[in-house]
Amino acid sequence: MSSLPEYEVYALKYAHHERSSRDNFLGGDPHDAPMPLDYFVWLIRGNGREIVVDTGFSAAMAAKRKRNHLRCPGEALRLLGVDCGTVKDVVITHLHYDHAGNLDLFPNATLHLQDREMNYTTGRYMCHDCFRGAYEVEDVVSMVRRVYAGQVKFHDGDRDVAPGVSVHLIGGHTMGIQSVRVMTRHGWLVLASDASHFYANMNETRPFPIIWSVADMVEGYAKLRSLAASPEQVIPGHDPLVMQRYPAPSPGLEGIVARLDVMPKQA
Ligand SMILES: [Zn+2]
Ligand SMILES: [Zn+2]
Repeated sequence: MSSLPEYEVYALKYAHHERSSRDNFLGGDPHDAPMPLDYFVWLIRGNGREIVVDTGFSAAMAAKRKRNHLRCPGEALRLLGVDCGTVKDVVITHLHYDHAGNLDLFPNATLHLQDREMNYTTGRYMCHDCFRGAYEVEDVVSMVRRVYAGQVKFHDGDRDVAPGVSVHLIGGHTMGIQSVRVMTRHGWLVLASDASHFYANMNETRPFPIIWSVADMVEGYAKLRSLAASPEQVIPGHDPLVMQRYPAPSPGLEGIVARLDVMPKQA
């Protein structure tokens, strides 16, 4: 076995959105069945560290985008004893509105971001609605302010964030989306974030329709699997099945928090 530290990993659900399966696959879906999205932030904890992955969106943004906001991501983290004001490391997988709002909740954190995501969100492609639609300019501006405050750690490709925790450039969904790999007691776990919204996107090679590069997205599915100890240990970014397959860490947190560093109830 590895000598790396092993971490606890949690998915914290903060919002929900009802929609049809035809909206979740490039080219649609013949079944046209209900296929809702859950919205998560993630916590990696162990070896004296707390690393937050993504920061979610606020109640105001939920109203603007007509999403069902269940709780502030900061309040969800507090349920696990996390004080957002003292968190030192936050990985931002990409700057879409549902992953990179609420940066003000983490005033003392270093934000880990891929070079390409910053380039993408401040460059020529944002002239086109098809690329900028899931971004909020104020979130991007907040990130730029953190750059000027010296609080952003840029990564170019695959890099360690801590012993046993690393970020991996995937691309596809956006130019600079990164996934996170974590050592657990069951080996490597991968938080895919939006590199695969649902299990079905990666397992059936049917891309989600918000795309920078179809080629990179499809290649990314293989990369995600290659990083994880088993295919089941790749956690998609928005799939409600995550809350069904993984247990709550305590009875009071049912439906709010899922513990991911255990083996899932079903494959
Ligand atoms: Zn996204
Ligand atoms: Zn997302």
